[in-house]
Amino acid sequence: MINQMYRAMLGGKSIIRVLSENAIARGEEIGYENVFDYTLGNPSVPTSPIYTEAIIRMHREMEPVALHGYSQSLGIYEVRSAVAESLNRRFDMDYQTRHIFMTNGAASSLAHAIRAVTEPGDEVLVFAPYFPEYYHYINKTGAVMKVVPANTENFQVNFAAFEEMLTDKVAAVLINSPNNPSGAAFDTATLTKLADLLYAKQEEYGHDIFLISDEPYREIIFNGADSPYVSKFYDNTLSCYSFSKSLSLPGERIGYVAVNPRSTDADIMAVILSQISRGIGHNCPSSSVMRGVMAALDTTSDLSVYETNMNLLYNLFTELGFEVVKPSGTFYIFPKCLEEDASAFCFKAAKYDLYLVPSDNFGVPGYFRAAYCIDTEKVKRSLPVFRTFVEKEYGRK
Ligand code: PLP
Repeated sequence: MINQMYRAMLGGKSIIRVLSENAIARGEEIGYENVFDYTLGNPSVPTSPIYTEAIIRMHREMEPVALHGYSQSLGIYEVRSAVAESLNRRFDMDYQTRHIFMTNGAASSLAHAIRAVTEPGDEVLVFAPYFPEYYHYINKTGAVMKVVPANTENFQVNFAAFEEMLTDKVAAVLINSPNNPSGAAFDTATLTKLADLLYAKQEEYGHDIFLISDEPYREIIFNGADSPYVSKFYDNTLSCYSFSKSLSLPGERIGYVAVNPRSTDADIMAVILSQISRGIGHNCPSSSVMRGVMAALDTTSDLSVYETNMNLLYNLFTELGFEVVKPSGTFYIFPKCLEEDASAFCFKAAKYDLYLVPSDNFGVPGYFRAAYCIDTEKVKRSLPVFRTFVEKEYGRK
C-alpha cells in the first residue's frame, strides 16, 4: 500500500507551481515573451565561465574512471578543504576540512542538518515569512515546525514573539538570510540579539539549541547592505549553503553544510551527517560538479542584474503606493497587496499577464512575492502593465 502521509501530499500542490504552470500555458497562447512570469526562483543569468571551463577541462583531461567515480561519503576531500579555506578567507572563520560536508544543494543540506540536531517531537522555530518547503524538510523528520510571526515593519526578527516561543522544547532555530520571499537580510543588530537570546536559553534549559542557517542567497546582496556571516555570531551554527543561486547551478544540485568548529560535537558532526545520508539516500553528490564548484568557489555569476531589476520594481511599487520593504538581497520583493486576499490579488494580476505569488504559504497573509530573476528588458516592459493593473482594479495611479 502507498504510504498515506505521502499520498495526502498529492492534494497539496504548491500554489507557486500552479501559477507557474498557468504562466507557461498562457505563454503557449500568446508567446512567452508577452507573459510577465514572476513566479519561480530560477536564476536568469548564466553560470560563471570559470565553472564552465573547469568542467570542460576536467572532462577533456582527467582520467574518466577517477572523474566519474563515487566520492567519499562526506564529499571529495580536496573540495571540502577548498571550501573550508574559502570560508576562512572570506569570513575570517577557522573551519577545517572535517567541518565541511558536501550535499545536493540547500534542500539536502537542510534535510541533513535538521536530522542531525533534533529528535522526533522536538520543535524547530522558523520565522515568517519562510520558504514553504521548510514544513516538509522539518516535519518529515518527526520534528515539529513552529512559526514565529513576522515583523512586517522591516522583516527582521519579531523578538517578543520569538522569546515567548523559545521554550525548552526547541532543539533548533532555522533562519534564512537574505530571505526568500522578503529579500530582507538579518543585520548585525538582529544577529547579535538573536545569538544573545539563544546563549541565554541554552544556559537556562541546560541543552543545546542549534542555529541552522539557510544561506542560498548569501552572495546576492545589494549596495553594501549589512548582511554578516551568521556563524560568526553563534557557536552552535550549521551553515547550509547551496551554489544554486550564486553560481546559477540549481539543476546541478550542489551545496554543503559548514559546521562551526566551536559547536557541540563539531568534530563528529560531518560524520553524523554522512550517516544520515545513508538513511535518506542523498549520498555522494556528483563528483564532477563538486570539482567544478571547487574551481569557482570565490566567484559568482554576474549577479548585478538582480539589483537593477529590484530597483526598477521597488521604485514602481513605492510610486504606486504599495507598502514594501526594500530588499537587501536575493531576487525577490514582497509588497503588501492592495486587498486582504492575496490570492484574489494575484489572480486579478494574472488577467494582465502578470504572474505573482500570493504570500499565504510563506506564513504571512496579504502580501505577494515577485521573483525578478528575469531579463531586465522584460521587467521594464512589465512596468506599464503593473500601472494599468493597479489603476483598473484598484483605481490607483
Ligand atoms: N532555501 C531557500 C530559502 C530557497 O529559496 C531554496 C530554493 O529556492 C532552497 C532552500 C533550496 O535550494 P536548493 O536548490 O539549493 O536545494
